[in-house]
Amino acid sequence: MSPTFPDIDPSTGETIADIPFASPEQVEAAAADARAAAEAWSAEPIQERAARLERFGELLAADAEELGALITREMGKTLRSAVGEVKSYAGSVADEVDQVVAALAPERPASSTQDVTVVREPLGVVAAITPWNFPVGMPLSILTPALVAGNAVVFKPSEHTPLVGARLAELLQQVLPAGVLQLVQGAGDVGAELVRSDVDMIGFVGSRDTGARIMSEAAGSLKRLVLELGGKDPLVVFGDADVDEAARCAVDHSLRNTGQVCCSIERVYVADEIADAFEAKVEELARSWTHGDPREKGTKMGPLVSAGQRDRVDAQVRAAVEAGARLVMGGEPAEGPGCFYPATVLTGVAQDNPITHAETFGPVVSVTRFDGSEDEGVRLANDTIYGLGANVWTADAERAQRVARRLRAGQVGVNRYLGGTSTTPWVGARQSGFGFLGGADGHRQFTVPKTIAVAR
Ligand code: NAD
Repeated sequence: MSPTFPDIDPSTGETIADIPFASPEQVEAAAADARAAAEAWSAEPIQERAARLERFGELLAADAEELGALITREMGKTLRSAVGEVKSYAGSVADEVDQVVAALAPERPASSTQDVTVVREPLGVVAAITPWNFPVGMPLSILTPALVAGNAVVFKPSEHTPLVGARLAELLQQVLPAGVLQLVQGAGDVGAELVRSDVDMIGFVGSRDTGARIMSEAAGSLKRLVLELGGKDPLVVFGDADVDEAARCAVDHSLRNTGQVCCSIERVYVADEIADAFEAKVEELARSWTHGDPREKGTKMGPLVSAGQRDRVDAQVRAAVEAGARLVMGGEPAEGPGCFYPATVLTGVAQDNPITHAETFGPVVSVTRFDGSEDEGVRLANDTIYGLGANVWTADAERAQRVARRLRAGQVGVNRYLGGTSTTPWVGARQSGFGFLGGADGHRQFTVPKTIAVAR
């Protein structure tokens, strides 16, 4: 019998299933089978590939309730947001497919001496290695453009959401030719094996450190990479901000998904002159974020994904308090079964406090006061290795633009949380990423351009 790993419900600590993980030989075979299927797949007209993915979108929509329940069971987010995740991604598949087709359309640059065409060809086999926090959304951000572009894919879902990954693969396999989508299950060692296998590109969403390991492993064979990594997003609140609205943004986006969002607000910088009122509002709002059974209506926060994640958050909060932060609320793991951790608010967090620099990925609002000047706000916000998102709150529109331009991040929200449209790229600046997902730039990364020049 092949070795297995336990798939654990973080709300109860119960084992849902024991999942066989792929052996090195099975990973190699999956990559070889994908390669064998890739040529015929890439030869299929892009419109036909697009139509298959659109059918998958319909299957996914029909499966939303069931798949949502499975997400909640495997990783603990509230049932409402789990079903919402499936519906939202299912609803956007057709639009995304259209955008991939448009982004990959041949170009014909003008020349008086040649007929020039630039075509975008698939790379061959793409490995998709993904996390558990949005176990439908994150895989699809790689699978959809990779497949429409004509690549075969070997997909390794997170070891925390293997059944969600398997269901996603099953739905895709219903619309794809045999072999085009391969599934391998397992944790980091299986992911590492997949990176070493005969694939042409790695599409990865996960932590910064795993991304760095993948980059170094991929260097030997110059595999293409897209790495969407972690963050330590700031919110800078200036003295002229709407205190209530800024506090609501800080709380909602520090605690959403029990804080397990790559672009969570993990650092809040508030101007001294409004800090008392702001911190009081943050506490008031955070007190309504109680945790509990994620299947029950009205629960705002489920458990953290695993005991390991709960212990990491706990250790980080304890170290923060030891380093001088004030614990306003929370800060103690909940007793009983499950990996519950309460909404936690820290104030007086110094810039050199360790929690200001390490990704927390838990339900913590961390507040630091500053002198309210633009230079200091920008300096503090940019004092990180990360650069995923950043947010700024001010009534002064010109200042908002100046600050937004100076913040080093892939996306900036002004007087709102991060935004953008379905055509804007998702990108991490600095050590939050390498490459893009989404938008024409992102879609094109699953291809290599080829210029064909014909004599006139
Ligand atoms: P992780 O890096 O631990 O794991 C991600 C995936 O990589 C999993 O499938 C894991 O099995 C695999 N893996 C682990 N070690 C590997 C190795 N050496 N080689 C190949 N694969 C390996 O991250 P996680 O805990 O699953 O997810 C949380 C992280 O993901 C956070 O840092 C979060 O910020 C980040 N994230 C980023 C985005 C984004 O868009 N930038 C989105 C969601 C999550």
